[in-house]
Amino acid sequence: MNRFSYARPTDVAEAVREVGSDPSARFIAGGTNLIDLMKYNVERPTRLVDITRLPLTTIDKADGGGLRIGALVPNSDLAYDDQVQARYPLLSDAILAGASPQLRNMASTGGNLLQRTRCLYFYDTATPCNKREPGSGCSAIDGVNRIHAILGTSSKCIATHPSDMCVGLAALNAKVHVAGPSGERVIAMADFHRLPGDQPERDTNLGPQELIVAVELPDEDFSKNYSYLKLRDRLSYAFALVSVAAALKIDGGKIAEARMALGGVAHKPWRDTTAEDMLRGKPAEEASFKPVADHILRDARGFGHNDFKIDLARRAIVRALSQAAAGTPQTQTDKRIK
Ligand SMILES: Cc1cc2nc3c(=O)[nH]c(=O)nc-3n(C[C@H](O)[C@H](O)[C@H](O)COP(=O)(O)OP(=O)(O)OC[C@H]3O[C@@H](n4cnc5c(N)ncnc54)[C@H](O)[C@@H]3O)c2cc1C
Ligand code: SF4
Repeated sequence: MNRFSYARPTDVAEAVREVGSDPSARFIAGGTNLIDLMKYNVERPTRLVDITRLPLTTIDKADGGGLRIGALVPNSDLAYDDQVQARYPLLSDAILAGASPQLRNMASTGGNLLQRTRCLYFYDTATPCNKREPGSGCSAIDGVNRIHAILGTSSKCIATHPSDMCVGLAALNAKVHVAGPSGERVIAMADFHRLPGDQPERDTNLGPQELIVAVELPDEDFSKNYSYLKLRDRLSYAFALVSVAAALKIDGGKIAEARMALGGVAHKPWRDTTAEDMLRGKPAEEASFKPVADHILRDARGFGHNDFKIDLARRAIVRALSQAAAGTPQTQTDKRIK
């Protein structure tokens, strides 16, 4: 472990100032990802700005009627919140599909958005990795790439974003509220994470000194026809090979509105609004879903070990949409165990 100094601000402006005082300073919330990265020598901050004393721990009604979730709300509290379970059960299910109860108790809303990829080479400082060390090369493209991306990849990086919560947030059109040296701004969830392109070292469009203060869910009702389907190597405590967040509004047996996002397949939660448009007005049945799955995966590309993900994703999309249409979500078994 490298030496670092430590600050524990109590208000947002002070936290932003603290992180701006040292170019290699990092915010720390639950520490469930950052501490591991520091132990592996992937992250080497010289100053840690502990944000756990900031007043960002509540879930409140947002101005437009939606919900405003403080950046420090633990993943468990968010998943089990009565309002979230009643109004946004898709988000609750996505969170409960991730990690373990202990990790969800520590992990924060803001930290979940900013967790780094699980690419093994990223964590192994003995191997080249453009995300860890820009310009060094990508070990995964010709290496062991079973967990890697099939959509939106670049010749520089084929990593995936590992979050489940973010897939639910993307499907629900969430917004991210951030504070920085020049004030506050709002970033649509669709624009928050980036594709790797030529700069895989940049996971998001957040500025270096910006702090996530809240995530806002719009006032929309997808609480009846939804499903979060996560396919992985173990039933719990494993990251998604492929996941699908699906939400429908159905009127008279036809789809009035559709939302979908995929996890485990790209550098960001994968949202294809043209596929959602294709579903509008179609009968809410399997025959409508297959062409949509083909459309979403039209440019998918495997890298050897992960070729299986293309067909897996195709079938997962059809299954998640079928579950949503039937009102029988892939609900997590521990949903009511608080
Ligand atoms: C073994 C294991 C299994 C896991 N399985 C899953 C899984 O299946 N699905 C899943 O979704 N997740 C999984 N996780 C990831 C876990 O959910 C994340 O580690 C967690 O959400 C990160 O939150 P944190 O508060 O601990 O972040 P930290 O580790 O404290 O911080 C992570 C990053 O975010 C930055 N940061 C934190 N808060 C803010 C803020 N408010 N503003 C700006 N920057 C901030 C930090 O500087 C750091 O760069 C797993 C983790 C582990 C260790
Ligand atoms: S896929 Fe991305 S994170 Fe993994 S080795 Fe290649 S550049 Fe690094």
